[in-house]
This record gives sequence, structure tokens and C-alpha cells, in this order.
Amino acid sequence: MQQLSAPWPDPVAYLARMRPDAPVLFLSPATLQATARRFQDGFPGMVTYAVKANARAEVLANLDTAGLSAFDVASPAEMRAVRAVNPAAVLHYNNPVRSPDEVAAGIGAGAASWSVDDESELDKLAQVPRGAEIAVRFTLPVKGAAYDFGEKFGASPERAADLLRRVAGGGWRPALCFHPGTQCEDAGAWESYIAAAAGIAARAGVRIARLNVGGGFAAHRTGPAPDLVEVFTRIKAATTRAFGADAPALICEPGRAMVSEAFTLAARIKGMRNDGETLFLNDGIYGGLTDLRDMGLTSRVQVLAPDGTPRKGAAQVRRVFGPTCDSLDRLPDGLALPADSAPGDYVLFAGMGAYSVAMTTAFNGYGLRDVVTVLQPTGHFPPES
Ligand SMILES: *Cc1c(COP(=O)(O)O)cnc(C)c1O
Repeated sequence: MQQLSAPWPDPVAYLARMRPDAPVLFLSPATLQATARRFQDGFPGMVTYAVKANARAEVLANLDTAGLSAFDVASPAEMRAVRAVNPAAVLHYNNPVRSPDEVAAGIGAGAASWSVDDESELDKLAQVPRGAEIAVRFTLPVKGAAYDFGEKFGASPERAADLLRRVAGGGWRPALCFHPGTQCEDAGAWESYIAAAAGIAARAGVRIARLNVGGGFAAHRTGPAPDLVEVFTRIKAATTRAFGADAPALICEPGRAMVSEAFTLAARIKGMRNDGETLFLNDGIYGGLTDLRDMGLTSRVQVLAPDGTPRKGAAQVRRVFGPTCDSLDRLPDGLALPADSAPGDYVLFAGMGAYSVAMTTAFNGYGLRDVVTVLQPTGHFPPES
């Protein structure tokens, strides 16, 4: 048994020794805390964490240790998960559609900030204490993210101005919020939203104390690591440009970019067709690899023999299926793995902390459940691929 006080040095050491036959997610607390500090040092405002990206207690505890005290939650269960780690944590309840029971749970938990994107939802918040903040969520038809969140939530700028006026008139602290879409690689998306926010506040005749610029910060998937500092700088400059002396305090709520890099996922090759082209992993789109279906493949992949030796054969493109009996359980085409990869090998995917263990199902008796703590997140990855 692994001692809690003695984490494994890295995923390779664990795999070579334990030879797990189920997928494993490796957490490097040092990486997670370093990422949290990078956000806190660089972002020009308050940093919160979007719990949905990875709600594991180890994640929340490490972020708490790193000094994060406010969390973006979307459900009563997420509120409980946060408060179990830090009973004094500040809750931003940013799911704009809530049942009356959920509203009562948010009030009971003392949520400090609420988002809203429709009159019908603001009507449900009548009992929210007047000291709380209500942020109107708006959406723009801008691109830049891997997929668009604006189709589900967010009022048009015109309707947002009306709602903001109602929030201010109702006695709550008025704010605005948006989400540019996940894995947003274009800082211009934030600039467009921030300019629009100033327009909405002006049209409503309401001074907002805070502007929540959402999550969406890109994780390192392929190519060089995204430049978060450049995004932070452009957010700050856009806020000054749009609001001048009236600039609101900023909040961000990264999910993906906060947790992705702290985790490496190891799946095992359980079978290979004699065509040499088709292989089956013990994890797939119903487990920890769902995000690859939605975001595309990452190039940060490494194959290890069962004893931990890296496979070094020439890259060969494979057709990769997950372990369930559903033919949809397949990764996007184009995953290149070394030619000498073999059944029993481990395939390591770097940067897999977000939307992995959070999205896993138990379909067909498979899924990603095991999280192992390591000192270093990766084993034999090339430094920057
Ligand atoms: C999902 C979500 C986030 C986090 O998004 P990432 O793309 O993972 O950073 C932040 N805020 C809200 C309101 C969300 O729904």
C-alpha cells in the first residue's frame, strides 16, 4: 500500500512497480499550487476556481493551501465539496438557471455572488439577501474558443442592460459576467467582451463594482504552452480602455487552465489488432478521455513499456478505441504512437486534470477512478512538444 506521507516520485515509478490494469490519474500537488500562484501573481484581480473542471477533494485542498478562498460553484453538491475543505470559502453561485430548492440551498450556504441571464431567473432570486452581488451574464457572437458557451447561457447586451438595471433597482450589488468559451486561445475574445461590458453598464446607467471575466483560459494541449501573462495584460489594458477611471474590480474563474497541467493520465493498451493500426485502451470517451473527443487530440503523449521504459519507435498513426462495447467509444483520428507500442504498455497523456475524472462514467464497468499523488507530474515527456 502506498503511504500518504510518501508520494510516488512520478507516474513512471508507480506504473513500473504497480502495473495497474485500470486507468490512473496522477496528481502533482506542487504543479497545481504553482499554477494557482501563477494566476494569483499575474491576474489583475481576484482568482477563483471553477469547481466543475475537477471537484476532487485533493484539488480543492491544494488550491485552498495555495491561498484560493473563493470558488465558482454550479450546484449544491459543489458548494458542499468546497465547504468540506474550507468552511469559510466564499461561494460564487454562477449557474444562471436554478430550481427553487437550489436557490434556497445557495441562500442557506450564504453564496456571496449569483449570476443571472434572464428575467425569469432573477424573479426566483427575490429572497437573496440584499448584501449579495448579482452579476448579469451576457453573451456575444465572438469566436476564439474551442467551443462556444454562449449558446446556452447569457443575455444579449440589450437585455443585459435591462437586467442590470433591475438588479441595481432591486438593491443587490450589480455586476456583469461572461464566459468566452473553454480553451480560448484568442485574448481578443476577452477584449470584445470587456468593451461590451462597459457599453452595457453605460446603457443601463449603472456603475458596476465588479466584472467577472469567466474561465476559458487555455491549457497546454499541442504546440507551445499558452502565454497566460499576455492574456492577463490584455484583459487589464482592455478594462482600463473601456471603463477609464470607473474600472470595476476583476474576477476570473479558470477551471481547465488551473488544473489541467497538474495531472497526467495513464491508460493501458489492452489489445491490438493484427493490422497494427487498431488498438484498444482501458480508458476512453466514457472515462477520463472525454475531453479529447471534444477538444481534439493532444500531442503530449508518451508510451511506456510495462517496466517503464519509453517506447522510441517511429510515430505511427493509430485508430484508438476505448474499453466499452460502444463503437462511439473512439478517440479522434490521428493519434500517433511509437511503432513498437505493444499490448500491456501504458499511454501517458500530459495535462489531463480538467474534465477527465470529473466527466467519467461507470459505463460497461469501466471508467477513471484512481488518483495517485506524485512529486513530478510527468515521466519521460519531451520538454516542450
Ligand atoms: C465552466 C465554467 C468555468 C470554467 O471554464 P474553463 O474553460 O474550464 O476555464 C468558469 N465559469 C463558468 C461560469 C463556467 O460555467
